[in-house]
Amino acid sequence: MKKDVVVESFELDHTAVKAPYVRLIAEEKGPVGDVITNFDIRLVQPNEDAIPTSGLHTIEHLLAKLIRERMDGMIDCSPFGCRTGFHMIVWGRPSATDIAKVIKSSLEEIAQSTTWEEVPGTTIESCGNYKDHSLFSAKEWAKLILEKGISDDPYQRYLV
Ligand code: ZN
Repeated sequence: MKKDVVVESFELDHTAVKAPYVRLIAEEKGPVGDVITNFDIRLVQPNEDAIPTSGLHTIEHLLAKLIRERMDGMIDCSPFGCRTGFHMIVWGRPSATDIAKVIKSSLEEIAQSTTWEEVPGTTIESCGNYKDHSLFSAKEWAKLILEKGISDDPYQRYLV
């Protein structure tokens, strides 16, 4: 077993960041040369806010669809256990600015026009906790995040 493993996310000073932001965590190259890029999609301020589970769950389901409609190469976008945002992994080397624009546009669609019928995977067959969804919460949190604006830098407010 390896000792002294460094997990980048735990090295970040969570008191120094200014959410909402998109942060490039790392680019990694696989054994045959393919590149994947990891992003920290921080939607609310750590240790001050947390998106309630039902709203975060619905945002998760919607982002799975809305991000793929807006860009190629998305591998995964999953919520942090602290409920302040998402970890996103993509093929290739998009910039934090590219990703921030996709997240902004996706949240705009959630806030402005998404109906319950458009939320994917809300049945007992297609979700692991189908009773724990809230489109109302997803929309209200999307509005709050968009009011603050999404920065492509974790420490400075450079809004996209
Ligand atoms: Zn689910």
